[in-house]
Amino acid sequence: MKVLITGAAGFLGSHLSDRFLAEGYEVIGMDNLITGSMDNIAHLMPRKDFTFYHHDVSKFVHVPGELDYILHFASPASPIDYLKMPIQTLKVGSLGTHNLLGLARAKRARMLIASTSEVYGDPLVHPQREDYWGNVNPVGPRGVYDEAKRFQEAMTMAYHTYHGLETRIVRIFNTYGPRMRINDGRVLPAFISQAIRGEGLTVFGDGSQTRSFCYVDDLVEGIYRLLLSDYAQPVNIGNSEEITILEFANEILSLVGNPKAHLDRRPLPVDDPKKRRPDTTLAEELLGWKPKVSRAEGLAKTLPYFREKVG
Ligand code: NAD
Ligand code: UDP
Repeated sequence: MKVLITGAAGFLGSHLSDRFLAEGYEVIGMDNLITGSMDNIAHLMPRKDFTFYHHDVSKFVHVPGELDYILHFASPASPIDYLKMPIQTLKVGSLGTHNLLGLARAKRARMLIASTSEVYGDPLVHPQREDYWGNVNPVGPRGVYDEAKRFQEAMTMAYHTYHGLETRIVRIFNTYGPRMRINDGRVLPAFISQAIRGEGLTVFGDGSQTRSFCYVDDLVEGIYRLLLSDYAQPVNIGNSEEITILEFANEILSLVGNPKAHLDRRPLPVDDPKKRRPDTTLAEELLGWKPKVSRAEGLAKTLPYFREKVG
């Protein structure tokens, strides 16, 4: 069985590559390295069952031979990345998705897309279930990412409905673990790096906004099960342990234990969602999936990676 993973040099794409190789698949990784790094897949490069293509998927995508599955994970994913690259973000979610759907159709492959909790925007329903349509500002700064992902879902569903393509949609909630870029601006890499360096932890706003953090191994397991299921509607995958950003900053301060580190309040970014927690009932019923790794365990597995990178 052969799988194409776009965004393979990124955080999630590299972990998915590891998982599919471990399951005995042949993996083709594709990435243009705008936010990813070859370091994440350096250990895979010598393998005969792994091939890497340096390519921008917003341009025509060609892969020789047969393909069984396509996992489309290419996209800037952190707010500072997609604010720096708004047009590329819109293109990879729209043109990139269209190219890959076309490829999936030509190869008769099943396609899974990486959607996001951001399709719910600043949610008015809490926790978020898959049947909530969301509250997104299309012309705000985050609109480039949120709308690209909403379009991606619509396009994927259209290929499913009109062309009978086998498709899967995973709505991923905040996920963390080793191989995140230390300066990608997301809250966990920011706080852990700042705490290790003994700097201020940049808490945006009053820190009362919430997030729910999922460890990467749990996410990968959920995605693997969803791909092999027969369910084409969107499925939330995430951890429902919710925490305020201020509590999270204090948790990181005590975990890292650097006496010089402290809190540093900054303005809240525009349209920053106030609450986010997945309702994962559907994933539990459909896939028999539940996250297994608590935040304490996940952070303990992640901290050594950041200590090495920051050091
Ligand atoms: P990441 O930035 O580490 O990885 C994204 C990868 O895609 C990078 O390697 C980048 O170089 C590549 N890429 C971007 N545009 C490309 C293009 N046009 N052509 C080829 N490659 C391209 O981010 P991540 O956290 O691993 O996110 C992966 C996917 O999961 C993204 O689609 C993101 O929207 C989605 N997602 C992630 C999270 C999360 O918490 N990590 C949450 C929701 C959704
Ligand atoms: N955040 C913060 N300090 C930082 C980075 C982020 O307080 O240095 C906050 C941000 O305002 C948001 C939450 O942490 O409320 C999660 O931000 P992140 O960029 O990780 O992801 P988001 O869930 O907003 O896409």
